[in-house]
Amino acid sequence: MTDMLAGRMALVTGSTSGIGLAIARALAGAGAKVAVHGLATPDEAAAAVAAVKAAGAPDAKFFDGDLRDAGAIEAMMQAVAAWAPLDVLVNNAGIQKTVTLAEADAKTWDAVIAINLSACFHTMRLALPAMADRGYGRVINIASVHGLVASVAKAPYVSAKFGLVGMTKVAALEYADKGSRETGGVTVNAICPGWVETPLIEPQIMAMAKKVGGDRAAGVKALVAEKQPSGRTADPADIGALAVFLCCKAAHNITGTALPVDGGWTAQ
Ligand code: NAD
Repeated sequence: MTDMLAGRMALVTGSTSGIGLAIARALAGAGAKVAVHGLATPDEAAAAVAAVKAAGAPDAKFFDGDLRDAGAIEAMMQAVAAWAPLDVLVNNAGIQKTVTLAEADAKTWDAVIAINLSACFHTMRLALPAMADRGYGRVINIASVHGLVASVAKAPYVSAKFGLVGMTKVAALEYADKGSRETGGVTVNAICPGWVETPLIEPQIMAMAKKVGGDRAAGVKALVAEKQPSGRTADPADIGALAVFLCCKAAHNITGTALPVDGGWTAQ
């Protein structure tokens, strides 16, 4: 635990589970106050807030808001800003649906684009001006290797993640000259994970297990072997550690990047 982010407040969307919860815990461990968010039952929300407090957050509070609804996003952003000035915005919430173009329907397309892309547009446009006024701000967009390369049966997801990487670069340019080395500046970056073991990829693990005729572990092994040369999945905490680094003042000149955490997937 450090106090690198003491006095800062971070909103992590989709932090009731998986990568978002791990990022929220990592930021908490660095001393940040954390706005926890997700589609969750009261018990799940309370458990996430407790986990974030246990990781060291001086304070943590749950905010709800269905990211398919622009009005709900505005209300959430207002509620978060009323709690404390927002220093770090992590756009993490996302859904995945593996379906071919021929089989995909409008409902799937709309939901994947709304949560994985449009919601990030709304949170960024609402959060960045105040960050610029204060001379410090960090936006970390959790994209994917699928924001850099394609795979079959992922048209809505790949479209959303490529869009998110593009929007990251635009925002980085628009805010590049805000703040200073002393204040930390305003940076916007994307993290592009390969396979990370969370509930999101469970259906793909089980489908692969069935395909290779093995158990869950065989499914993970085969899934990773297909694309990721390291042969290992990432732990959600690995993504949390990178997010913490991007928030430090020394990272003031890292902006507009799309950082793969993919065991060599996109190096091929
Ligand atoms: P997860 O399913 O564990 O968590 C998703 C989170 O998003 C949950 O907190 C959920 O409540 C929230 N969420 C979903 N729909 C929502 C909605 N309509 N409104 C508000 N919140 C909503 O998934 P994860 O694997 O931790 O994924 C987190 C991010 O990482 C996603 O953007 C995903 O695309 C990305 N990612 C994951 C992997 C992986 O291998 N797991 C790889 C690359 C990128």
